Amino acid sequence: MTQDIQFNRPFMTGKELYYIAEAKFGNMLAGDGPFTRRCHEWLENKSGCDKALLTHSCTAALEMAALLLDIKQGDEIIMPSYTFVSTANAFVLRGGVPVFVDIREDTLNLDERLIESAINQRTRAIVPVHYAGVACEMDTIMDIAERHGLMVVEDAAQGVMATYKGRALGSIGDLGAYSFHETKNVISGEGGALLVNAPTLAMRAEIIREKGTDRSRFFRGEVDKYTWQEAGSSLLPGELVAAFLWAQLEEAERITNDRLATWQRYHALLEPLEVKELLRRPIVPDECQHNAHMYYVLLAPEIDRQKVLNELKKNGISSVFHYVPLHSSPGGERYGRVQGELEVTNRQSERLVRLPLWVGLTAEQQEYIAKVLTRAISS
Ligand SMILES: *Cc1c(COP(=O)(O)O)cnc(C)c1O
Repeated sequence: MTQDIQFNRPFMTGKELYYIAEAKFGNMLAGDGPFTRRCHEWLENKSGCDKALLTHSCTAALEMAALLLDIKQGDEIIMPSYTFVSTANAFVLRGGVPVFVDIREDTLNLDERLIESAINQRTRAIVPVHYAGVACEMDTIMDIAERHGLMVVEDAAQGVMATYKGRALGSIGDLGAYSFHETKNVISGEGGALLVNAPTLAMRAEIIREKGTDRSRFFRGEVDKYTWQEAGSSLLPGELVAAFLWAQLEEAERITNDRLATWQRYHALLEPLEVKELLRRPIVPDECQHNAHMYYVLLAPEIDRQKVLNELKKNGISSVFHYVPLHSSPGGERYGRVQGELEVTNRQSERLVRLPLWVGLTAEQQEYIAKVLTRAISS
């Protein structure tokens, strides 16, 4: 039987179109209506953040963060090179300089032991990225930030429903950014949220998101007209997107548990390959509860990754690698600065393979994937 296993299949809970119809027939189409409020409350209760604000993407949430932190020409922002472009772009748009620091061998997250060597008088912020929904070593990172007077913006794009020592990712730094892009766990097509944890930033966050005006306060009846307050943009999604997202948030627990079961199944199926040292499976530190955003393997150095990907493809399995490290891309060379050798980033990024993981992927399909992968890397 020929297989056709997609890498990702966006999951719908079933109520998305119902809620969209509800928003439409209530004539609530612009942003910050009842569904947006429901999503905000959910995010605030679930994460414990001071204020949650939906944005039209995680990219927009990160751009909001850069505006909120008043990033200026030449300000330096410490981040991993092994991340999505938006982590860097958000700050580059304000004239900031991304400073790329190497990642940890185990989690592929920013190596907290290397952060201090990258700090100088121009450093303004640290942006830890929680890769695959596995938390960075946040206690250490927050301690470094405090000692050096730096802000922390968590890129928790992949971290919805994941925790570090029981605390929601995105709720630990001064600011946190979530993504609801269709490739993430909880989705609205395009979508995101900024979590504001520093109460001093909450009011300005609302203003920046609403075209630089105090319109949010006006709608709450706190001011009798709304006016231009400072530089801002239109960063909020419309109600139809929020209605879709609400149907997903309601089921976030079920989605996460389903993905975790799939993740565990891969983990068991691929153990023999790790024992034979043909690959390494993901490592999740004890203090991190992840959300099964991703299942990846790191192939042994002698294995040709492209051949493995081709072999999977030939057998109907769509499998992909991930980031081209930012420091080695044209944009990274132009806008960024590299701290140290980035040896782990360079090595691990070339060995990583991501396997299909979505709600609805069956145990039989996973066994088939494991079989094909085993054959591909053993030959
Ligand atoms: C997906 C992702 C983003 C961007 O999210 P959008 O919602 O598509 O803007 C940013 N950072 C990381 C680490 C991501 O995985």
